[in-house]
Amino acid sequence: MNKLETLRHYFGHDSFRPGQERMVDALLSGRDCLGVMPTGAGKSLCYQIPALMQSGVALVVSPLISLMKDQVAALKSAGVPAAYLNSSLTPRQMDLAMERARMGAYRIIYVAPERLDTAAFRSFAMNTKLSLIAVDEAHCVSQWGQDFRPDYRRIADFVDSLPQRPPVGAFTATATDRVREDIVKLLRLRQPAFASTGFDRPNLYFEVIRPESRYDALRAILRLKGLDSGIVYCATRKNVEEVCAKLQAEGFSAGRYHAGLSDEERRSSQEDFQYDRVQVMVATNAFGMGIDKSNVRYVIHYNMPRSMEAYYQEAGRAGRDGEKAECILLYSKQDIITARWMIENSEPNPDLTPAEQQAVKRQDYQRMNAMIDYCGETGCLRQYVLTYFGEDAPDRCGDCSGCCGSRYDYAEAAKRTKRRRIVLPDDPSDMASDRLQPTKLKLPKPGESGLFEQLRACRMQLAKLHHVPPYLICDDKTLNDMVRRRPMTAEGLMTVHGMGAVKAGKYGAAFLRVIREYEGTRTTVTVNQGSEGGAKPLTLKERNELRQAYLSGVPIARMAKNLGRTEAEVRAALRRMDLIV
Ligand code: ADP
Ligand code: MG
Repeated sequence: MNKLETLRHYFGHDSFRPGQERMVDALLSGRDCLGVMPTGAGKSLCYQIPALMQSGVALVVSPLISLMKDQVAALKSAGVPAAYLNSSLTPRQMDLAMERARMGAYRIIYVAPERLDTAAFRSFAMNTKLSLIAVDEAHCVSQWGQDFRPDYRRIADFVDSLPQRPPVGAFTATATDRVREDIVKLLRLRQPAFASTGFDRPNLYFEVIRPESRYDALRAILRLKGLDSGIVYCATRKNVEEVCAKLQAEGFSAGRYHAGLSDEERRSSQEDFQYDRVQVMVATNAFGMGIDKSNVRYVIHYNMPRSMEAYYQEAGRAGRDGEKAECILLYSKQDIITARWMIENSEPNPDLTPAEQQAVKRQDYQRMNAMIDYCGETGCLRQYVLTYFGEDAPDRCGDCSGCCGSRYDYAEAAKRTKRRRIVLPDDPSDMASDRLQPTKLKLPKPGESGLFEQLRACRMQLAKLHHVPPYLICDDKTLNDMVRRRPMTAEGLMTVHGMGAVKAGKYGAAFLRVIREYEGTRTTVTVNQGSEGGAKPLTLKERNELRQAYLSGVPIARMAKNLGRTEAEVRAALRRMDLIV
């Protein structure tokens, strides 16, 4: 298989995204590379594709257990044998995994940096053909980044000690020039190929709200969110506890996450969120890098974060699947006092000299000021963000509260919600179809939201059956594409975004059943209605043909001719199928 076939077969994508191909090519030709791409850009594929196209096993260094688990589960779900080695395994499980690795059972192994130094792992690495080494979240190597991990400093020595040095690829979402230089220097990359795809995330909407009561604003927004997944970031543990308790008391499906909880509690809380058992996660920034959940539809900051770097990273956890998502910041002047307190009282890094510590603190204040400016920005928020990260951006993006005014006239929304609250049924699925939308939001077309919810429920069933989080079955983008295309056959399903051969084979039948049933009932309804002035409704087969023709851009006159129908009949049918208005 060539690289495009590999992309299609395992991951169900038709083309590479910007930057990906350059990274893939570099690693395939044995060259080091560095990819700086925003969250959701698709960094994983940059090393997974070459790993699948070459003999030997690829090592991926990753900082967090949850990240590794997630990636390995995603790979397995796509039919790629993969494993992880970290401290969550018992010694026996570790021996077993290593044994299997030696026998060539895996194509990709995720490993925690502190494993690299252990005798067992070293002996494995010395005696195995390695196709490449990928360093994920590579900014962890730099103390100037957000998440310095001293263990990352061991990677270069490990690589240099190998009998044959495989190409090394480093990947990160956030890297200032300083961090970028650190990555090249400290990982000892050799003339790396470089790709940077820019920081813009076109599918994200940005808004800053300065509410009188944060909690009221939050509640009003969440009531509009139905079954969608989202994160609410708070500045302190205490805030998390309070907000989460209030939301739960009001009947929201909310969970909490912060560093003060036991390992077990954090694990189960994260899992509930990942498996869509809980819709809203209220958390401190401890709920961090480990979240690869692709269907997070909104990230709300209950407090101002300490820097634009932190904000963009946290907000960027929304909409990884590329579908529309919202990033909303609730700001109050009180936030400045809290932020200042945190800078003054943060633990000094013992590895730094006093002069360096002073420099870090100065930098913290500069970052905080930039963040305060964002909260007060009256122009385009996206432009502010992109300029901050050193990119050119147009004066207006047309998709933020700076350009278009608030999407949440939350006082108004709260009033309306209150009135409706009384009649809202207890069944959450009813709430979703009945969800309230502020006037400026585009309402889902009635027929479509029904099918989407059915497909979402089907995904939930599949997830339970296969013991993986729903978004690993497929992401929201895939469901939306199914709603748009309504494939009725296995071939049709393969044209849907994100449906590779493996996934279609594993899960396709269930989705097809839902779509066929849905289309079937709708056909009967239309027949009974007979509202088209005597025109004979189209058969299921005809409708299916029509949909394909419409999606491939065939003119209506030609569709009519091909089906032996009048143009009026075709138009009426397209209208019923929600394809035209
Ligand atoms: P990152 O690590 O850069 O944050 P991921 O590797 O987790 O991003 O990918 C984010 C999402 O983008 C995933 O849902 C993935 O399926 C999707 N994706 C990646 N590459 C492509 C592509 N070439 N075409 C379509 N979707 C893609
Ligand atoms: Mg990633």
